[in-house]
Amino acid sequence: MNLFENKEECCGCTACYSVCPTSAISMQQDEEGAYYPVIEQSRCIGCRKCERVCSFKKTLKTQNASSAAPKVYAARIKDEKELTASSSGGMFTALSDLFLSSGNAVACSVYDTVQYEVRYVLISSVSERNQARGSKYMKSSLKNIFSEAQQWLEKNPQKKLLFVGMGCEVDGFRSFAEAKKLRDRVVLADIICHGGSSQLVWKQYAEYIQEKNRQKIQSLHFKDKRIDWYHPTPVAAFADQKEVSVKQYVKLFNSACAYRPSCYQCPYATIHRSSDITIGDFWGVEKVLPAFYHPKGNSLVLVHTAAGAEVFEKIKPVIDWEESNAEDCLQENLIHPTRRPSGRDAFWHCFRERGIKEVLRVYGNVSVTAKIKKRLNKLFH
Ligand SMILES: Cc1cc2nc3c(=O)[nH]c(=O)nc-3n(C[C@H](O)[C@H](O)[C@H](O)COP(=O)(O)OP(=O)(O)OC[C@H]3O[C@@H](n4cnc5c(N)ncnc54)[C@H](O)[C@@H]3O)c2cc1C
Ligand code: SF4
Ligand code: SF4
Ligand code: SF4
Repeated sequence: MNLFENKEECCGCTACYSVCPTSAISMQQDEEGAYYPVIEQSRCIGCRKCERVCSFKKTLKTQNASSAAPKVYAARIKDEKELTASSSGGMFTALSDLFLSSGNAVACSVYDTVQYEVRYVLISSVSERNQARGSKYMKSSLKNIFSEAQQWLEKNPQKKLLFVGMGCEVDGFRSFAEAKKLRDRVVLADIICHGGSSQLVWKQYAEYIQEKNRQKIQSLHFKDKRIDWYHPTPVAAFADQKEVSVKQYVKLFNSACAYRPSCYQCPYATIHRSSDITIGDFWGVEKVLPAFYHPKGNSLVLVHTAAGAEVFEKIKPVIDWEESNAEDCLQENLIHPTRRPSGRDAFWHCFRERGIKEVLRVYGNVSVTAKIKKRLNKLFH
């Protein structure tokens, strides 16, 4: 049995791994650090549950996860402290507060400072939620999060669960929840995404800056808003409060060379999704809704289902919002997936043969002009 013909057809969502009744599937890392399902044939009973649950491959063929046009909003959390702590307009905080305040659970991604990786966790408190804020520019490890969410829902039959993550991961969880007859107990919030970058590259980068600074990273902020939302300051902080710029890593991320192959044909680069609600940055909001714009962040919200409309209605007391439309909200990754860079193979060859320092020299070079701009920004803000 073959779950996919080529790597572009698998986003690593773990739905097949989580649904297999005989644990015949394991998720194994390839040389780029991406996880793929591998079937141990001797344990396979041929039930084909893994094939049926794979939504990514099906969505690739149909392209649109849902043909219905979503309701479109610009939105922003009212509390300025929460807004500043969030990557865009604080929708994750508003939505997760709604769930946590009534004893429900949230599955989302945190940066693990011990393993220095991003991974999914199930959370039930505001302090854990605060750790999960911030966009982490790498693909998150899902490990057993689907089964953990299933077990939590089965143990707490009166409760609901909010699952927040990338389009492919959320759609994978949707399909898994449907297979387990739990779909009506979960609310799915997916994030607009331009790519899931290799954790292997981040790990080598993290080791490099930790070695240079002789201490471990304690927190990571790729979209710190000390200047403003349009000019994020990417920093890592150490235990002694010292901060270092991680701009070179952001350049590597933006080069798109380390993205998982499935990202270059991502079927979720559209406003049509199979989630309940989609959140992202409302880039260009200052042009289409000038009175709404706030320098500390503005979210784009796409509401797809009745469950999405219900949660959006419930968070209205804590947010400012304005209705928009499907044309005004468009951005690159709602129109087409990020294109595969022609230098991708050369990037990986360089990474394998010469390591992170050489990769940084070639692909992570922060130009002198950018450095001068940063200094000027610091002086005038
Ligand atoms: C890699 C990446 C690429 C993105 N690309 C775009 C884009 O092209 N256009 C756009 O409009 N928005 C993009 N976003 C989304 C945007 O940056 C914000 O994360 C989103 O708008 C939520 O902001 P917030 O203020 O509500 O959330 P915050 O309070 O900052 O919370 C961020 C949420 O994102 C989750 N998250 C962070 N990193 C990851 C990760 N690696 N994997 C899974 N979940 C994660 C957290 O668990 C949390 O739920 C991207 C985010 C990431 C992580
Ligand atoms: S066919 Fe069934 S037993 Fe075999 S790997 Fe798939 S889910 Fe597991
Ligand atoms: S279910 Fe997810 S992990 Fe499994 S083959 Fe499909 S995309 Fe890959
Ligand atoms: S670009 Fe698409 S396939 Fe890649 S991580 Fe984002 S949602 Fe998943």
